[in-house]
Amino acid sequence: MHSNLDSKFNEKKVSRRNLLKGTAAGAVALGSGLFLPEQLTQAKSDVEIINGTGFYRFAVGDFKVTSISDGMLTIPTNVFATNASQTSIDAVLETVGLTTEPAQAPMNVALLETSDSLILFDTGGKDLGPIGGQLTTALSQLGHAPEDITHVVFTHAHPDHVGGTIDADGNPIFSQAQHFMSETEWTHWLSQEGANAEFITSHILPLENQMTLFQGDEEILPGIYAISTPGHTPGHMAYSLSSNDEKLVLTGDVSNHYVLSLKKPDWHLAFDSNPEKAVETRIAFFNHLADAGTKVLGYHFPFPGVGYVVASRTFENQWSWLPSM
Ligand SMILES: [Zn+2]
Repeated sequence: MHSNLDSKFNEKKVSRRNLLKGTAAGAVALGSGLFLPEQLTQAKSDVEIINGTGFYRFAVGDFKVTSISDGMLTIPTNVFATNASQTSIDAVLETVGLTTEPAQAPMNVALLETSDSLILFDTGGKDLGPIGGQLTTALSQLGHAPEDITHVVFTHAHPDHVGGTIDADGNPIFSQAQHFMSETEWTHWLSQEGANAEFITSHILPLENQMTLFQGDEEILPGIYAISTPGHTPGHMAYSLSSNDEKLVLTGDVSNHYVLSLKKPDWHLAFDSNPEKAVETRIAFFNHLADAGTKVLGYHFPFPGVGYVVASRTFENQWSWLPSM
């Protein structure tokens, strides 16, 4: 009995290794989820590890969407709940077996390929710290140079979303792209002071000549609808991508942690500029996504961040994350 079981596991291991060996997709599969880079290195020393990079492509009607990993932020869990105790935070995390500090927050940048456009949604956290900044490497693995990008669309202007906009000389990386940001967001950050605002303005002002500002709740490009979702920042936008009766919603930072944001939408994120408004937006947004059964791509959800928000049958305004791959 035991030997049968052993051989089954061995067979599984061998075929998986063969499947993964030498393929970009294999590296992606290994790089997904919540594994730490150290664990990856120990587990698969003979497989090329591309830490923090990866891509996962799928179709939305005629649209081709690729979730690209820009890397991973690590954030103390109390940042996700300034109005809850550490004990309460730990208790929620433990229900799904997450007990480690700090939390890991992937940065999943969406690339949308249409018949005539290459559209990026946010630019990752290149200038934010050591773990981000894999976007242009991953794009080149996909066969795209930065100047091939035709549009860059921002959910909001926090550093982990605009950190990859400029090169070391302060020039736009996506030099040929038309950039889009909500006018409220643009105006807000240009009126703020302090280190965070300085970082942000240094990354968005060089884009001024190629920036289109918009109001929200409108179609900004064919099949791309900006959904006004204020609270995390004043001009935050989620996006709905529609093609041939199929739809994908990019959540931006309406959702931040795939457990805490969904189980405790009333917990205040330290980065929410208007916490009460953010709670109101989150609850309405998740209820809508769960009721409609809409596929979503969560910017900070475990890579590739593609799946569904499923409502609790027992508790009002609580949801679970159901990855779709
Ligand atoms: Zn973010």
